[in-house]
Amino acid sequence: MVKNFKDYAEWIEKNQQYLTEISDKIWEFAELGFQEYKSSDLLIKTLIESGFNVDKGVASIPTAFVASYGDGKPTIAVLGEYDALPGLSQTTDPKRKPLKEGAAGHGCGHNLLGTAGIAAVLAVKEAIDAGEIKGIVKYYGCPAEEKFNTKGYMINPGLAFEDIDISITWHPGIVNEIALQSNTAMNDVYFKFYGKTAHAAGDPYNGRSALDAVELMNVGANYLREHMISDARIHYVITNGGLAPNVVPAEAEVHYFVRAPERHQVDELYNRLIKVAEGAVLMTETQLEIDFLSGTYNPLRNDVVNNVIYEKMKELGPPVFNKEELDFALELKKTIPPPDFTGLKKIVPPDKWEKAMRYHQEPMFPVISRPLGKGMVAAGSTDVGDVSWYTPLGEFSTACHVTGSPGHSWQNVATSGMSIGHKGMIKAAQVICLTALEFLNNPELVKKAREEFNNTFKEKKYKSPFPEGYKIPFHRFEKVNK
Ligand SMILES: [Zn+2]
Repeated sequence: MVKNFKDYAEWIEKNQQYLTEISDKIWEFAELGFQEYKSSDLLIKTLIESGFNVDKGVASIPTAFVASYGDGKPTIAVLGEYDALPGLSQTTDPKRKPLKEGAAGHGCGHNLLGTAGIAAVLAVKEAIDAGEIKGIVKYYGCPAEEKFNTKGYMINPGLAFEDIDISITWHPGIVNEIALQSNTAMNDVYFKFYGKTAHAAGDPYNGRSALDAVELMNVGANYLREHMISDARIHYVITNGGLAPNVVPAEAEVHYFVRAPERHQVDELYNRLIKVAEGAVLMTETQLEIDFLSGTYNPLRNDVVNNVIYEKMKELGPPVFNKEELDFALELKKTIPPPDFTGLKKIVPPDKWEKAMRYHQEPMFPVISRPLGKGMVAAGSTDVGDVSWYTPLGEFSTACHVTGSPGHSWQNVATSGMSIGHKGMIKAAQVICLTALEFLNNPELVKKAREEFNNTFKEKKYKSPFPEGYKIPFHRFEKVNK
């Protein structure tokens, strides 16, 4: 019997006011990673009130949780995030205007990301209660995506991701599309040097400068760039350079990101960077301490899951914006630099360039994009990567932001707190819901996704990027929300 799951997409639409209120509250809380107490409490409360079982403080992270509903097989995981970004506070005006000067804001739209997943699992619960399907639906409350590979940490054996058949996630974007491009794998590491202090003018010969070690390490890293693959990236900031020029610094520290398209390339490059740091130690007679913050994998998404998502996106159509919203988007677009189509031209076939560029010049992206970018790698990184190496995972985005809007921007904070973001979020929730129902209803499809997963990872083995005995360095993330 063909079941009419569209009723559950309608359930989301009928409840959109309740759902957007949740999203708007998280938008207002705008809590940084690992401090999302109010946001996670609100989501947990919503799930418990609807009858979900909730595991709090998962993996010893106070703001991480897993909620589940139903029984039997299969088990579908929906991933959620809810952390904000520092300094991006913004009202829902089309001009730069902080809601609270210097405070955090949802410049990546994670208020929408977290709430759409909740909306989807609540709708799936309705279908389970109605006896339409059997199985388990789980919502993963994954904090601190902007700072840390929380998902990669949570999938460590025995923690949270055991026995998942299918994972579904999304991200607010500027287009409606399934995610085919991969992202870079990454390591996030502090190098701390210890020397010997002295009067910088009086007895400098007695000093051994930790700052010298930092600088020599950076010089070495900059020479290393010549001899690494061009798609790799190394960036750093000096987080401690000493206290005064007349005191030889006994302590100094530099914070590095190492990125590359494949995890093993990050490992290789990182090992070479450690040698550079050790070289700096030799030159300066200092000591080195490595503080490993986090590492992520490059996502390898599952075609079977992505194809179902794509079918549901086409079935539901793109979010539709009214004149008032389009006028707002046009106003906001004036604050964004003109589009650069270099990246787009790499993934769109030449005969479709004109059409694609036209869509990207409209204030809001108006269609469901054809699947593009398979085999390409976007320069940023995401902790969704680790989950994709652990379970068959599909991902997509819907238009929640103005075309051309840069990631992590105040412009995205504005649209994430108003009807433009709400519409993208509701559409995403419907796509997740229908995709989850499709897999819950069709064991053959679950099997196919698993077969593809086993095939993709025949030669690749997931090994946690976190070193043995690792503990999350929460002290590194203690930045207070203003
Ligand atoms: Zn994000």
